[in-house]
Amino acid sequence: MRLMAIIIFTLSCGIKERQNQNSTLSIKPQKRTSKKRQIDASKEQIAQFSISYKLNGFNSEQEQKMKLALDKLLLVVKSKAFKDAVLNHEYKGQKRFYKNKGMTNEQIYNHILNGMEDLSPAKDHEMDLELTLYYSKTNTVGYTYPNTSEIWVNDRYFNKYSLGEVANNAIHEWLHKIGFEHSFYNNSDRPYTVPYAIGEIAEKIINSL
Ligand SMILES: [Zn+2]
Repeated sequence: MRLMAIIIFTLSCGIKERQNQNSTLSIKPQKRTSKKRQIDASKEQIAQFSISYKLNGFNSEQEQKMKLALDKLLLVVKSKAFKDAVLNHEYKGQKRFYKNKGMTNEQIYNHILNGMEDLSPAKDHEMDLELTLYYSKTNTVGYTYPNTSEIWVNDRYFNKYSLGEVANNAIHEWLHKIGFEHSFYNNSDRPYTVPYAIGEIAEKIINSL
């Protein structure tokens, strides 16, 4: 159903998984402290999370539309509904995503909050977007390449899309920037990949706001 453009690529650098900071202490009060610290860390990450963007080729009306969509996307990523949907996402009866790079749902959620793009792997808690509007008669909604931070957005779709659809496309392409992939051709598994599934999650939450 989606006409999202897809780029197949191989990423040369893998995602460095965070070391679990939990100690192996078995004394109960300390365990609770450790758990509490984890919850606080997640809250802190959510509080710090932001979206920064640079727009190329947008007129003022289009710029306003993108800004509104990204404002909503920021609310979504910080929401409990988003966290719950990502953590509970299922593929073939298990809590996981397809093509998850060996990451659990929780690790994927944390990777999003860390905002570590493959091309600028600082843990800056920021979704860095560089969006360029172009026009094409093709069915391509947007695309990007692994060797650039730039994301191209087809204004044939952008102009008629709802804010939820625009946000879906933006986070879909950005999820490629933090290392997640999907097949070029649509198949029954593709909707369960990180870019497609989380794009849809974001769109649904925006539509429910
Ligand atoms: Zn894609």
